[in-house]
Amino acid sequence: MLAEVALPLPLFRTFTYAVPERLRHPLVPGSRVVVPLRTGKEVGIYLGPGDPRSLGSAAPKAILDAPDAEPSVTPALLAVCRWIADYYIVPLGVALRCALPALLTGAAAPEPAQRTRRVATVRRHLESLLHRERIFGRAPQQRALFELLESFGGRAAVDHLTERMAFSPSVLKGLVARGLVEVRDEIVARDPFASRAGSATPPVPSAEQRAAVEAIAAGRGGETFLLHGVTGSGKTLVYIELLRQVLARGRGAIVLVPEIALTPQTVDRFRGAFGDQVAVLHSALSDGERYDAWLALRRGEKRIAVGARSAIFAPVADLGAVVVDEEHESSYKQGESPRYHAREVAIVRARAEGAVVVLGSATPSLESWTNAASGKYRLLTLPERVGGARLPAVDVIDLRVGIPRSTLDAPRLPDPSVERGALTVEGVLSRELQLALADRIEKGEQSILLLNRRGYAAYVQCNNCGDVATCPNCSIALTYHRTPEQLVCHYCLHTEPPRVKCARCGGPTLRQRGLGTQQVERILAERFPAARIARMDVDTTGAKWAHTEILDRVARGEVDILLGTQMIAKGLDFPNVTLVGVIDADTGINLPDFRASERCFQLLSQVAGRAGRGPKGGRVLIQTRVPTHHAVRCAVRHDYGAFVGEELPSRMAPAYPPAVRLANVVISGTDETATAELAQKAATWVERLLARAPGDAVRLVGPAPCPVERIKQRWRWHFLLKAERPAELTRVARYFLERFAVPKRAGLRVALDRDPVAL
Ligand code: ADP
Ligand code: ZN
Repeated sequence: MLAEVALPLPLFRTFTYAVPERLRHPLVPGSRVVVPLRTGKEVGIYLGPGDPRSLGSAAPKAILDAPDAEPSVTPALLAVCRWIADYYIVPLGVALRCALPALLTGAAAPEPAQRTRRVATVRRHLESLLHRERIFGRAPQQRALFELLESFGGRAAVDHLTERMAFSPSVLKGLVARGLVEVRDEIVARDPFASRAGSATPPVPSAEQRAAVEAIAAGRGGETFLLHGVTGSGKTLVYIELLRQVLARGRGAIVLVPEIALTPQTVDRFRGAFGDQVAVLHSALSDGERYDAWLALRRGEKRIAVGARSAIFAPVADLGAVVVDEEHESSYKQGESPRYHAREVAIVRARAEGAVVVLGSATPSLESWTNAASGKYRLLTLPERVGGARLPAVDVIDLRVGIPRSTLDAPRLPDPSVERGALTVEGVLSRELQLALADRIEKGEQSILLLNRRGYAAYVQCNNCGDVATCPNCSIALTYHRTPEQLVCHYCLHTEPPRVKCARCGGPTLRQRGLGTQQVERILAERFPAARIARMDVDTTGAKWAHTEILDRVARGEVDILLGTQMIAKGLDFPNVTLVGVIDADTGINLPDFRASERCFQLLSQVAGRAGRGPKGGRVLIQTRVPTHHAVRCAVRHDYGAFVGEELPSRMAPAYPPAVRLANVVISGTDETATAELAQKAATWVERLLARAPGDAVRLVGPAPCPVERIKQRWRWHFLLKAERPAELTRVARYFLERFAVPKRAGLRVALDRDPVAL
């Protein structure tokens, strides 16, 4: 007897093994099998009887073990992975890895999971600046580390400080020796959500919410609904009431959120409503805990899986509904192979299991919107905020006229940071925004400030020759960070000490240019010394639960101003936030990406939606230099329809999604010339292939260097394939990936990204 087995290898084929007489368990499609591979072993998935014609002259090797009593991959998930393999053009064995928890991918018995980690905690608080200067006079590194710890709320994992933030362990030792910091082993909480109270009993749904729930609950299996509800319209309650009905029918559900750590309130609401029946699949789970959750869902002991992108593969028994909250979020697309989009996988899986799908958003992706317009999805609308709350008034502050006079007129200050190009209060916060912030602080209300750029200054430039400090590995400017003081590449995380001289001309006149969250934080602290300010960006949230801690502080009213990157725009529901300020709406609007305007509109609408969720109402101030751009204009009026009306035509010529389907073929390598040559060769190869087929079902655009030409020492070129019909695109892309020969030198690689979210 022969068996067909899928293995996670970069080969577009399955493998044939002999089935021995004796195996621990019978083989069913979806069963894990341990097979010999070269000199070792590998875990694969049994697909069915093998085809003798696939064998060469050598006798097939035998399967070593079938460790599971029940198949690890259910028939429905097997079908979903086959679709992923086909659509995203990856080997089936690679797609199937998505469906297995990490513990089941190794041939060895699972190790007991590591449950402790070393944590550094601030032991002494230093109140006065003077005190600080005295203590740290000759130890600037210690000071930087100490202040970093403070910015993390006084504690952080040691690994994070020494590895990610690149502090030498001796600096930390120094702080410990001086009694300023303490380091201990801490037990990692088994389930950090277990200790969080689920939020109180949900409110009674309004008539509009009930109508939406009934429509979805009555949906056919496989039917997809687009729930377009303005911010604060109560979409979460619609999901909860739907799930109540699904559970009452004895079925289960999956709820996808963009990122668990950023949406603790949403997760709490589900736990509040369904308690122990919910498995929260977050990134802080150990492999063992993840496996526990996987088993509990598989056995039907838990009925609801809540998680980010990968939760779409949760083995929920008898799936009745899938919710994709904030369906427009690009985090639903996986950045590495298989490059699937969880929203598309959700729809395929729901069809396979007879479940309904709800895509929820205040700012749906144009793809989903056109699918609703064409009748592929059913559109449901919640046009109003619940409980009589109104959408906040939005005002634009035109930075072009508002060029702060004071900075132009001011005499040169002796402040050395100004010398280095640092910005002043007036250069960053318009008068209106300053007044509005002061007013909220006085009234005890809260404000949210968005600046979608982390670090202190966007780049460092020589005032003499204009040279910009760039990463040695990537073609991207280094960002200046102040705590700790270093230059950081946001692509490869390369860090280096701040430069004192220009690398090109040797001049001493380096200036910091462009604004980052760290600098805004400094400016806010100067302008509002009494305010409690919290900063939330990738740098402050490295420790696993740092996000949640910051958001909890906001919820408890311990923060006056929450400043952050796009992280703060997602789903937060704080009724005491009455002011939202956007420091610079223009970051991102000019990126070389056809979705730049759409992203900008979504971000502005989402962050504006954080204001005025309570009875006190709210106001939004947007600072911009492009007030007439449609992304800004339409966000100001909360007018999604108008935005779509202006944006869609711009996607027609040249054609971009949703007008066409796209695949981005990226050619990368360590040698610049070899990469460019291979890109040319590949594009010519595809062109010839297309020329042989009649019509122009698939078109090729490019090749050209990628917008960021070099990342992590690899040069990058790309070309696009465009098609009206997805099947044609699949055919051409598959033919190319399977036959085009990539030379085995200069680290050359060809990767295909179907439906890319970024070019
Ligand atoms: P959205 O996700 O649509 O922006 P949420 O689901 O966060 O909105 O709901 C906004 C707020 O309104 C939440 O605090 C929620 O508890 C509350 N809410 C939802 N539905 C109702 C209702 N029917 N009556 C009163 N309050 C509600
Ligand atoms: Zn880099």
